[in-house]
Amino acid sequence: MELTDAERLLRDTFRTYFTREIEPHVPAMESGAMLPYPLMRPMHEALGLDALLGRGAKPRGDGGRDDAGRAANTIRYARTTFTVEMARVSPSFALSYGASLSLFAGNVLGKGTPEQIERFARPVLHCEKIGCWALTEPGGGSDALGGMKTTARRDGDHFVLNGSKTFITNAPYADVFLILARVEGGDGAGSIQSFVVERGTPGLATGPAMKKMGMRGSPTGEIFLDDVRVPADHLLGGGVRERGHVKASLTSERIGLAVLSYGIMERCYEIARGYALRRRQFGRAIAEYQMIQSRLARMYVALSNCRRIVYADYLAGRPSRESVADVCAGKLYCAEMGTFVAFEAIHILAGNGYMEEYVVERLARDAKLLELGGGTTEMQILTIARELLRE
Ligand SMILES: Cc1cc2nc3c(=O)[nH]c(=O)nc-3n(C[C@H](O)[C@H](O)[C@H](O)COP(=O)(O)OP(=O)(O)OC[C@H]3O[C@@H](n4cnc5c(N)ncnc54)[C@H](O)[C@@H]3O)c2cc1C
Repeated sequence: MELTDAERLLRDTFRTYFTREIEPHVPAMESGAMLPYPLMRPMHEALGLDALLGRGAKPRGDGGRDDAGRAANTIRYARTTFTVEMARVSPSFALSYGASLSLFAGNVLGKGTPEQIERFARPVLHCEKIGCWALTEPGGGSDALGGMKTTARRDGDHFVLNGSKTFITNAPYADVFLILARVEGGDGAGSIQSFVVERGTPGLATGPAMKKMGMRGSPTGEIFLDDVRVPADHLLGGGVRERGHVKASLTSERIGLAVLSYGIMERCYEIARGYALRRRQFGRAIAEYQMIQSRLARMYVALSNCRRIVYADYLAGRPSRESVADVCAGKLYCAEMGTFVAFEAIHILAGNGYMEEYVVERLARDAKLLELGGGTTEMQILTIARELLRE
């Protein structure tokens, strides 16, 4: 992919920052000795992210060859590359950052009233507070909407929330929670709505960080809601919304998760290639053996296809992916290929690949989450088929 000088400069700036400022903290974050959050505000300041990724930098136009088109495309490139570079170093840091900035603040920005944006989204966008987005429940994962048990009952100028959530990124430490709940009685009965709840609200409790296979630097946990009273102006958007707004959140989450997978596979491929060129067995570099070349070539096929998927909007100069089916197809393919490439890298490094020191085992454990979160592979397939067969 041909980069302009400006794009190369951006990528190198991100890469240098993550390598110098985030990577040294990865072992402490993985062990739980350090949380990812204190690193986020300094990162925003150092990289000028408030301006680069903020609302004011919304890409306008459809790309094109004029100055405005090029500027819009550079912003699209910057957003994707920022996430890729973060995932190369620490997918779990990227997951926590994305849950706070995209899933919490992005939803409030997209659907909130001006007052909600100012009060709840702004501090999270500036990494002064941490947010989370709570859809999944113990009884409702893939069928999160149909199986939702958490309720919101109108009581005068308040809503009263009851229920529980699980597997929620950032929940153990979040300052603000976007809770999805089914409205009981009155306007919009039965519909699923989003409510902003602040930590410290009576009746809201969170569990400790859960022990996980991967993404260990990203705290995941439960939320318990026991007669939690929130003012009616904490209902996102200020009024009951149509069905479908949750699905729009899932679409943007899936684009982000595909990009994380790509970052993982790019790093794993590079580590495996470098190792194959250096490691000698039977008097030769293992890269000289065709069976190793075959593995590297297949890893590259996946990498090359996924690169085109995650940079598709940038390359086409358009603001967002063309259809829900395309987004699900991209998420499914990148997530599966992320796991494939990471495990191939372990195989090429063999004993060393199995050791923490060589990074690929951590990236492989992290990669698996991306086949599950934001809807499992099966959910992507069901959604693709539904979209394709729609008359
Ligand atoms: C580290 C981590 C972070 C997460 N962060 C968040 C978060 O921030 N916010 C949030 O709301 N959620 C979050 N989740 C939850 C995640 O989105 C769910 O785990 C995921 O949607 C799957 O739900 P489930 O685990 O309940 O699996 P289940 O729905 O129980 O699925 C079990 C298996 O059955 C399959 N299956 C289910 N239904 C069908 C069907 N109709 N046809 C074929 N196969 C089917 C699934 O594909 C899967 O293989 C997180 C999860 C993890 C592990």
